[in-house]
Amino acid sequence: MSLAHPSELIAFLDQIDAAPRKSLSQNFLIDANILQKIVKLAGIDKHDQVLEIGPGPGALTQELLKAEARVIAIEKDLKFARALPRLQVDGRLQTYEADFLKFPICEHLEKLAPMKVVANLPYHITTPIIERLCDHFSLFSSAWIMVQKELADRMTAHPGTKEMSSFTIFLQTYCKPTLALKVSRHCFFPVPKVDSCVMRLDFHPPRVDKPKSFLALVRRAFQQRRKMLRSTLSIQQEPFATKRPESLSYEDWLVVYHLINEKSGPIDPSAYT
Ligand code: SAM
Repeated sequence: MSLAHPSELIAFLDQIDAAPRKSLSQNFLIDANILQKIVKLAGIDKHDQVLEIGPGPGALTQELLKAEARVIAIEKDLKFARALPRLQVDGRLQTYEADFLKFPICEHLEKLAPMKVVANLPYHITTPIIERLCDHFSLFSSAWIMVQKELADRMTAHPGTKEMSSFTIFLQTYCKPTLALKVSRHCFFPVPKVDSCVMRLDFHPPRVDKPKSFLALVRRAFQQRRKMLRSTLSIQQEPFATKRPESLSYEDWLVVYHLINEKSGPIDPSAYT
């Protein structure tokens, strides 16, 4: 069965008495070419342990198994999770019926590290999923994740653009994000309102000693993005005092962080939440 073929996907949904659920962001990939490209771009082979978040009917799962990877698939929708064992090949597929945001990552995944993440993510919780991956950066070498184009733009934003956000800085603290592939909305069923992109994230240890403290400061400034840093962060030193948060590069933020640390001592993240 080719789940990338719309009529076969619909037949499968009928068979398990399921219909795409908006509340779980169920827009399924129905383009075989895109599925193959993702697996190829990620360089998946028999040495890889892959975490797939939200396998759904299993089109991407099938492709990962075909590339001989070991796949850990975490799916919240019971109907899909219970149907996944049908795709089993040589014991390489392990399925968890679970909400990824509550899944005990260390308990189940630590022994498989370093893993690659390959997933067409549920769009309503993309940001918390990425934050969780970053919190466990040491378990993952890279991630190849489908996200909405608007989020991809924020992930790769340059200083001075309106796409620049605290999320941009957060991400660069834990990984190097790059655009891997643009994907039209017409490659999904049902067709979503937005186009998508596959983003590649290469994880690394945090670029600062106390990332939580550093990021609390960045978020504080972005909460009032039209205001200058002298009013949001009480910083007096030029050229930063009269700048707005979106105009700062990552290196600028490091300088601002150290200036504030020197003046006021270590920053308490809870003071900024
Ligand atoms: N991988 C499939 C594909 O490419 O066609 C489905 C992708 S669909 C965009 C997102 C999937 O994530 C759905 O199967 C949905 O049920 C699942 N999902 C939604 N929220 C989830 C959560 N909190 N934890 C795990 N899976 C979730």
